[in-house]
Amino acid sequence: MKKTRTRFAPSPTGYMHIGNLRTALYEYLIAKSNGGDFLLRIEDTDQERYVEGALDVVFNTLKATGIEYDEGPGKEGDCGPYIQSQRRDIYKKYAEMLVEKGAAYYCFCTKERLESLKTSDEALGTGFNYDRHCRDLPKDVIAANLAAGIPYVIRQKMPLSGTTTFTDAVYGDITVENKTLDDQVLLKSDGLPTYNFANVVDDHLMGITHVVRGNEYLSSTPKYNLLYEAFGWEIPTYVHCAPIMKDEHHKLSKRNGDASFFDLVAKGYLPEAILNYICLLGWSPSGNEEFYTLKELENVFSISGISKSPAIFDIEKLTWMNGEYIKRMDDEKFLSMTLDTVKKVFEDANVAVPDSDILKKIALLVKTRINTLAEIPEKIGFLAVLPDYDNELYVHKKMKTDREISLQSLKVTEEAFEASPSVKDNWNSQAIYEFLIGVAEKNELKNSQILWPLRTAVSGLPATPGGATELAEILGYDETMRRIKDGIKRLTN
Ligand code: GLU
Repeated sequence: MKKTRTRFAPSPTGYMHIGNLRTALYEYLIAKSNGGDFLLRIEDTDQERYVEGALDVVFNTLKATGIEYDEGPGKEGDCGPYIQSQRRDIYKKYAEMLVEKGAAYYCFCTKERLESLKTSDEALGTGFNYDRHCRDLPKDVIAANLAAGIPYVIRQKMPLSGTTTFTDAVYGDITVENKTLDDQVLLKSDGLPTYNFANVVDDHLMGITHVVRGNEYLSSTPKYNLLYEAFGWEIPTYVHCAPIMKDEHHKLSKRNGDASFFDLVAKGYLPEAILNYICLLGWSPSGNEEFYTLKELENVFSISGISKSPAIFDIEKLTWMNGEYIKRMDDEKFLSMTLDTVKKVFEDANVAVPDSDILKKIALLVKTRINTLAEIPEKIGFLAVLPDYDNELYVHKKMKTDREISLQSLKVTEEAFEASPSVKDNWNSQAIYEFLIGVAEKNELKNSQILWPLRTAVSGLPATPGGATELAEILGYDETMRRIKDGIKRLTN
């Protein structure tokens, strides 16, 4: 059996979005699930549409997601170079070989002539098809034109009758009438190949066994197969994938600058969660499990799970999944990713930064309560600065508190703390809790009537990560007392 080899072949004509990343991921998984190689090939033959910086995004994204290539730029193997603009001579040689075989021909048509053809085709509404003007030029005319240095392109000579059929691993058998196939350009007048030619030559020379790409290439595939046949090369397995849609009517697109991996990371999504989620956009595992690491995907991925229908990128589902990833992450890793963010909340508010034990407690307090890392500042801001709040927050039927009870409760809590230096010296959530239960009992109040007003006073929020005593511990004795006094003042006025 031939070793499985796949390639991700981005064109730097725009910034890689998550649909492109999914293609790379599927290519990688098909290779790795079969013990094969995954290659990176840069398809930069369309120099006019070259976008500066687009390649950096490709390299950085693959690196950050752990989709490591076995061969490619900077990782030379036997089939390099892996950047098409450095392979010019190869394409020229193969294009000329096709001319010799009678499967391609020189075309000397001028730009002006082609433009006028295009205009008349547009007027007819037929879509542009080259009229095959140079297809049967006499040999001596060709030789004279070449000798005179007249610019030329090389075009594929499509059969004029019959059909071409191929099998796609996702879409099944596809048949086209050969007469509908355009005599497409293989080699441009600047000596560079078109994508349509270079992909075939390179996929063959690089030993690619599986070609994964967007289904917009389905209709061109018969043309590629005719090239493979003309050369006598083995046709690879085609895996065409339905697009990822940003809504019901629009595909994700490079031109529109749609969501990239790094946009999502900047919004607080974890690389593992992004990869896991986009893998499921267009592929279904055989069981019900949805959570997979990249390593696990390498074992379970199979082409048969790839879907024919487009999938909609659902940010809510990704957000949920990301939240699950955060909850399942080990604490050490979470802390290493978030402590700086937590610290910055205090620095930005220009208040004293708590010591590192407290910073860790704050981070762990929100770990189970956020879906993205970007939610952290908003969730913990109240610990740095007490928000302004409405006294209505003190009214809670179930907790049996109202403004009067809260005022009384905050006062007895303040007095009790002041009268008991031992609580201050042993300021931790459990000790504070036990102490306050005693205060409630002594004052014939329910626990909730002590804890609810305290939580409101220290947070100014209707809902908080953590209960009253956890928050008090984090705020420290002095800040807790300051907030209690503030609450008393608000309720007194
Ligand atoms: N260079 C093509 C693109 O970026 C790749 C298509 C393919 O994988 O063959 O769309």
